[in-house]
Amino acid sequence: MKLLILLQYVFCKQILICLEFDYYWSHMYCVLCKYGGADELIKTAKYIATPGKGILAADESTGTIGKRLASINVENVEPNRQALRELLFTTPGAFQYLSGVILFEETLYQSTAAGTPFVDVLKAGGVVPGIKVDKGTVDIAGTNGETTTQGLDSLGARCAKYYEAGARFAKWRAVLKIGAAGEPSELAVKQNAEGLARYALICQENGLVPIVEPEILTDGAHDIKTCAAVTERVLAAVYKSLNDHKVLLEGTLLKPNMVTPGSDSPKVGAEVIGEYTVAALRRTVPPAVPGIVFLSGGQSEEEASQNLNAMNKLEVLKPWTLTFSFGRALQQSTIKKWGGKKENVAAAQAAFLARCKANSEATLGKYGGAAGDAATSESLYVKGYTY
Ligand code: 13P
Repeated sequence: MKLLILLQYVFCKQILICLEFDYYWSHMYCVLCKYGGADELIKTAKYIATPGKGILAADESTGTIGKRLASINVENVEPNRQALRELLFTTPGAFQYLSGVILFEETLYQSTAAGTPFVDVLKAGGVVPGIKVDKGTVDIAGTNGETTTQGLDSLGARCAKYYEAGARFAKWRAVLKIGAAGEPSELAVKQNAEGLARYALICQENGLVPIVEPEILTDGAHDIKTCAAVTERVLAAVYKSLNDHKVLLEGTLLKPNMVTPGSDSPKVGAEVIGEYTVAALRRTVPPAVPGIVFLSGGQSEEEASQNLNAMNKLEVLKPWTLTFSFGRALQQSTIKKWGGKKENVAAAQAAFLARCKANSEATLGKYGGAAGDAATSESLYVKGYTY
């Protein structure tokens, strides 16, 4: 009798599991059938996560690119922003190391000086155009300067427009900080996880692969263990929210910080950073996610490449591709070499190619180091950095 009841219980449970699974997929397919559907999202995400390739984050807002241009005494006007982006996107040989480029809205609609739309230049080189869709951060009232990210209003309409213009993936940056009063607060973690999940689903409904970016800033005097614990807490909350919102994880990418000591703490070696980072990810990121594309967060170009290389050299199970989606750590020495002058374009492109190649090798754990001159080892850290 007992055995019969037990068998009935197991049978009913199985049916329930099947129904839930069925609901999940039919819900996703229904939500996504407007565009290429789930299949297109999964294909795009998988392609971007191709080992040996990574993402160039060239999505600096007009204000942020202004800071880069100011560092080389170049005026922040549209022709200069266009010239820098053209320099990057037409670097001979660079696309073999890139699977995606994140653009700012202005750049999505720009063309080369000869009139070819940037989107077409990227597509012709096998590089997927992406778009930054967040609208920056605002303080959460009642916290010690913690923030949430804006841009959910009309996001669906914007995503549809960007898809039309050729974008196939998107980025939304949520920012968290480690602070003395227990930051990040539970409130900030929850708000940002919820925002990322809502953004991700809206993107998928409109055919764009969402890059989910919960960046924990390096500012502070904390040690690497604290950064690891906070990273795990934040990522666990993010994946809980993504699952609650029924985001199709196979059609997403994660863009996290690397696990490092705070900016006011003594540095540690790449192997240590690699071990802590991979451990934090293994504890929190489901294997359904095809790729993890790191931000560089103020590390020097050389540090970022070395750290990524150390992760990929680790001999533990890593069910996702570990690659790069660097902004500053791919462009810094290039911008310096360029200096806003036509006659420097070739030298600047050589510097950019060297960084792309170094990071490509790092995704395979084969980077031998020293891909650039001393400038590539300069720290790019800026306290309280806003992107
Ligand atoms: P950094 O690599 O300069 O940190 O920027 C990457 C990025 O896209 C941040 O949102």
